[in-house]
Amino acid sequence: DGGGNVRVVVRVRAFLQRELERKTRCLIKMDPITQLTTLRAPDQDAVDSPIPKSRKIIEDKKFTFDNSFWSHDMGDAHYAHQEDVYNSLGEEFLDHNFEGYHTCIFAYGQTGSGKSYTMMGTPEQPGLIPRTCEDLFERIDAAQNENSNIAYNVRVSYFEVYNEHVRDLLVPVVPHAPPNYLKIRESPTEGPYVKDLTEVPVRNINEILRFMKNGDQSRTTASTKMNDTSSRSHAVFTIMLKQIHHDMETDETTERSSRIRLVDLAGSERAKSTEATGARLREGSNINKSLTTLGRVIASLADPKALRSGKRKDIVPYRDSILTWLLKDSLGGNSKTAMIACIAPSDYDETLSTLRYADQAKRIRTRAIVNQDHIS
Ligand code: ADP
Ligand code: MG
Repeated sequence: DGGGNVRVVVRVRAFLQRELERKTRCLIKMDPITQLTTLRAPDQDAVDSPIPKSRKIIEDKKFTFDNSFWSHDMGDAHYAHQEDVYNSLGEEFLDHNFEGYHTCIFAYGQTGSGKSYTMMGTPEQPGLIPRTCEDLFERIDAAQNENSNIAYNVRVSYFEVYNEHVRDLLVPVVPHAPPNYLKIRESPTEGPYVKDLTEVPVRNINEILRFMKNGDQSRTTASTKMNDTSSRSHAVFTIMLKQIHHDMETDETTERSSRIRLVDLAGSERAKSTEATGARLREGSNINKSLTTLGRVIASLADPKALRSGKRKDIVPYRDSILTWLLKDSLGGNSKTAMIACIAPSDYDETLSTLRYADQAKRIRTRAIVNQDHIS
């Protein structure tokens, strides 16, 4: 059965050097048994407290998610390594892909909260994307060694959405050339898609990792030129898995196609801090249109009143931004979807806003189907 709620997990990172220097307190507690995440009231008596004393915060805020990953101090018995995040989420989602379901995992949170670390990771500490690629080809290799009668076909694409433009990350950046932005189209069968997006076939782990790295490199190159786009851009890495099964007895051929979407969203803080003034607002509203619209889409999908009225399709503002339009299926349709809410350990306001956002996403239901066709 493919109907279910969006899986929502939360992950807290370690202190960064600057936080250690400021001797900040960790405001997060996670209970490994109940999965309860507590955001503690900050110490407002501290000299450098960012929250004015006039705004007295006394109560702890409590949230429960499907999983809570404690990646704050490695000495803790419940410390969640990259591998643990993969084992408890990535692996199961890959199972679904082999069953023929589309999946989507997206990382949400303020800049510096650990989204890219969780999705991409580092060469020493690979994240969900490289681990998914590795497991995918291990499974395919194992099946082929068993001489199964399934043929596999894997393709990848990688693009980013920045300032409501789509840029192909698998096309090398040409110095001084104007950027090549791609358009969105909608097909009655496949839904919204990026027109002319590069989709490369990959035959093994090395090929897929090379495209992943090239794409990531292209994102970073552009970001240093354009004043830190990587915290303002949404990166979407997609793996398309096709399994062609031939039944010897009945001589029938069936094809299962699934899509694995792995999304590193722009920093969530911009959506609010740019609301401040005129010029910033204009810049911000465009740069963040996708993120603010994502918030509205999530809110309308999560609102039970909207669900009851039966007009859900009409009121969800998918088409108001590029990202939500492209992720339409992943958010409210044919997909098994998970959100990883990434939080910093001592940033009260941003963390509260991320946890509330994540709490709302828990209420979203999607209806995934096995994407299977008889082809002969
Ligand atoms: P974001 O993509 O949300 O802006 P990053 O993933 O770049 O944030 O993380 C910010 C910094 O924190 C990086 O230096 C990263 O290596 C480090 N970091 C994030 N999460 C973890 C973690 N779980 N363990 C160790 N270091 C982390
Ligand atoms: Mg990042």
